Amino acid sequence: MSWDYYDARERKDKLERAISKRQKRGERFEVLAAPAGQKKLSTTFWGQAWCRNLESYQQYESRLPRGRSYLRQGKVYNLEIESGKLSAVVAGSDLYETSIHIQPLSNKRWQEIVAEGSGQVSSMLDLLAGKLGDGLMQLLTDPERGLFPKPKEIRFDCSCPDYADMCKHVSAVLYGVGVLLDSKPELLFTLRGVDQAELLSSASSTTMADLGGDGELAGSDLSALFGINFGTAVEVPVEPVPVVKSKRRATKKSPV
Ligand SMILES: [Zn+2]
Repeated sequence: MSWDYYDARERKDKLERAISKRQKRGERFEVLAAPAGQKKLSTTFWGQAWCRNLESYQQYESRLPRGRSYLRQGKVYNLEIESGKLSAVVAGSDLYETSIHIQPLSNKRWQEIVAEGSGQVSSMLDLLAGKLGDGLMQLLTDPERGLFPKPKEIRFDCSCPDYADMCKHVSAVLYGVGVLLDSKPELLFTLRGVDQAELLSSASSTTMADLGGDGELAGSDLSALFGINFGTAVEVPVEPVPVVKSKRRATKKSPV
């Protein structure tokens, strides 16, 4: 057995110990499952468009293959996407905390997209599935005017000792977004800080804006709009409601 074999074995054991220590503390530790081998990393419109955008920037080129292979080996954990931010833990020689800040889309850029795209999207399902007309598809994926971030809008930070501009852990997380968008395409809009509903039609976006003023919808408005119980006001009775056998009108009871 070579020293390399022992080194690799020791590193693997060390990582497993670090992961189980976190799990014992009750921390979430969820691997981002990605296709291994030569299979396509992303299979949907939004996932593939995200990866194509990354690969279009020359300054990322040298770091992307290592990140892609890390992701395929199941080394990206706890990937979270929120407005303007990605975070994940990546297992390299150690567990590294990675965070990536992505500037939200400027209001001007989004309003231009909405103005051009509004009315061209027939349903949220079509939008999220990428079933769009050629013109809108080109607009949304346009490197200058579209939804995807440019390198100057991306800042990253990783706890690893790699001083390269972009380490393989950051690159793995960026590719991980492409994989996650396959199952949750709406997260692209979340990440860029925009509301995809505004693209549906000018009529529906007006209704939403009217209801919520500055876009902040009150819970009661949402309940009325979608018929959803948000679980705060109504208590469901535990006892079954007794059947009234008499034909006489039952006394009206106050609600439980
Ligand atoms: Zn790193």
